[in-house]
Amino acid sequence: MAGKLSYLHPEIEQLDRDGIKAIQRRKLAALGERLAHNPSWVAHFKKAGMSPRDLRDPCALAHAPTLEKADLRAHYPFPMLTVDVPEAVRFFATSGTTGLPVMFGFTRRDFTELLATQVARALACIGVKPGERAYQGFGYGLWMGGPSFDLGLLQLGATTFPVGPGRGELVVEWMRDQAWSFASASPLWLMRLTRIARERGIDPKRDWSLRLAACGGQAVSKAFQDDLEAAMPAGFRVYNNYGTTESGGPIVSIPCPHSHHDDEMHLINEDTILTEILDPVSLEPVGPGEVGEVVVTTLDKEASPVVRWRTHDLVRLSKRPYDCRCGRNGMPLIGRLIGRSDDMLKVRGVIVYPSQIEDVIAATPGTVTEAWQIFVDKRDQSYETITVAIEQQRGSDRPLDELAQAVAHSLSSRLGLKVPVEAHAEGTLPRYEAKAQRIVRREQAR
Ligand SMILES: [Zn+2]
Repeated sequence: MAGKLSYLHPEIEQLDRDGIKAIQRRKLAALGERLAHNPSWVAHFKKAGMSPRDLRDPCALAHAPTLEKADLRAHYPFPMLTVDVPEAVRFFATSGTTGLPVMFGFTRRDFTELLATQVARALACIGVKPGERAYQGFGYGLWMGGPSFDLGLLQLGATTFPVGPGRGELVVEWMRDQAWSFASASPLWLMRLTRIARERGIDPKRDWSLRLAACGGQAVSKAFQDDLEAAMPAGFRVYNNYGTTESGGPIVSIPCPHSHHDDEMHLINEDTILTEILDPVSLEPVGPGEVGEVVVTTLDKEASPVVRWRTHDLVRLSKRPYDCRCGRNGMPLIGRLIGRSDDMLKVRGVIVYPSQIEDVIAATPGTVTEAWQIFVDKRDQSYETITVAIEQQRGSDRPLDELAQAVAHSLSSRLGLKVPVEAHAEGTLPRYEAKAQRIVRREQAR
């Protein structure tokens, strides 16, 4: 069976949940011992009346303080770095969409062994093979995406073309002429490449050899993902992949070919990252089928480890988290990113996630699925309204106002809320190559 063949580390990936938990217990104790030598971490644990060494008792983690961006910013410039600066061979930074980016260090082992192995396992899980011709389209520089995939692809023995984002007109030709078979990139960028290709007389379905992609850095809807698969060669699959700089890279979760059908991902590196899915208010673990926030503890990272890092990313724990036909039953299943607990909008008392709005737009024929915005207008201190802006696909014969009405109608039935919708010609709204900023706050009331 395809799933069985794709184990890169069968001795770990075939463990049951108890086997994984035993590894986590052992590593938590060792982590506590290391953190006990670091004054910042000792002070952090003290907030909860604890010492890092308490992690010897696996039940202690549930009482340990969570970690937030404010905790890290308080330790500028190298927050909670547990090694001397010369021992870190590289620093990466968070995207810094809100405030100053935070620097995360990696020792030689963190970078060349741990990260490489974590990414390689995730890629093997979706079926990347030695000799794969890989278009690497995530960004480089301080952002982890590009360098992380380079490492994983190298460890798997793939042939990498590290273009990064951009250079679309060249990429669509190279994709054809060099027969690239795998892509790692933002899903929005991949969709845009299919349009650039068609504008230049290249038919991705016929002229490209892409068979799979790992897409992350951006939460998109299932409908968007289906559209992307439909635009590519027959049999092409786009696998959703999730991770953050704080958790050590784009390595927290990825689907296997079986869970992909159910739109679920395995927490694929649970032997090196302990992930809790917690209610964002009570911080109690959620049950199967419930929505919670991803909270991460890095078990093996030497420089800049985190304990109970609050990602503010919301996902649904699978109804059957430990039951996948691929046999990775120690690596729980979670759904795609629903949104961020801090992106959650409350409009006239109704909770709205940007992903719900995206679902509606993607399901309405004639819209441009990668370009849309939510404008939030503050009317006074406590009253906010939203306006959704969409684009009409070039060549669509649906009039602008009719398209706007169709989206408004679906939003109203989906959210139970009347939301004004503006439709614009294709190309009017901003495009994002990495993380899209879907919510724009307009300061003055119009
Ligand atoms: Zn599976």
